[in-house]
Amino acid sequence: MSDNDCARLYEITRRWADRIRPDEVPEDIPVKRLPRSTYGGDNPYNGFTGAERRRGEQVGQVLRRNGIIAKPAACDICGKTERIGYHGEDYYDPFSMARVCFPCHMAIHRRFKSPEKWQALLEKNAHSPFIEEFRALPMQEVDFAAWLRANTPGPHDMVRRVWPDREVPDYKPRPNKVLRAIEAAQPTETEWKLLRVLRENPGATSEGLSAKIGWQGQAWHLKFGQFCRRLEADLGPAPFADTRKDDAGEPAKFYIGLLADFDNATRGFTLRKDAAKALDQVFGN
Ligand SMILES: [Zn+2]
Repeated sequence: MSDNDCARLYEITRRWADRIRPDEVPEDIPVKRLPRSTYGGDNPYNGFTGAERRRGEQVGQVLRRNGIIAKPAACDICGKTERIGYHGEDYYDPFSMARVCFPCHMAIHRRFKSPEKWQALLEKNAHSPFIEEFRALPMQEVDFAAWLRANTPGPHDMVRRVWPDREVPDYKPRPNKVLRAIEAAQPTETEWKLLRVLRENPGATSEGLSAKIGWQGQAWHLKFGQFCRRLEADLGPAPFADTRKDDAGEPAKFYIGLLADFDNATRGFTLRKDAAKALDQVFGN
């Protein structure tokens, strides 16, 4: 049953590809690296992984930017012209896409869970010239990716399909200034721990943060102050402490202030925004 579904789906996706693919596709489509994907999800579809789906969105961006794929004008299902994008069933082929508006796009993906709504949409747009293609979409989830790998010539990788002979690196967020400084300071394992507990416990006191690491007293802020001092060359100058004086009787520097704010009332430490962003890149979201 599923094999039949896949064979039928393949026919549809071939039609989509024939419609979108320009007569001449340049041999080497210019790109240094893939752009950031606007698709943030990680859900598999048709057997394609979240990563493969993001890859499809990234490659699509490059093709549109280079004018190789036109901006879609109207929805293949309902004919509306607002919020039009592309929908793919075959994430190995950058041209195999239907042009659909956002609500119709959502209905396609929800058709397994809400088949009645999907049928109603199809009925309502029975006059659309492309409606048969959508009627023919499988109504159960299929591993189309595996079917394609078994039954069609490769490469079964969208990037390889567009750039067969060269490496195109994936998008990599540029490390921000704070992250560069932290990495340059080469934190020890303990120092990474200091950063991690602060990130995970915004507003906690030094005692609280120390306890999280299994230390007594205020060991956290003493050690963290020493670490932050090493960042001053890159991120400084450090602010001065409100009341504390150094040995010479001058206002002491508050090195932790390079990365965190201190609330005098609660005695709590919280990462500054730029530092929080930097650590999101290290520890993930
Ligand atoms: Zn639509």
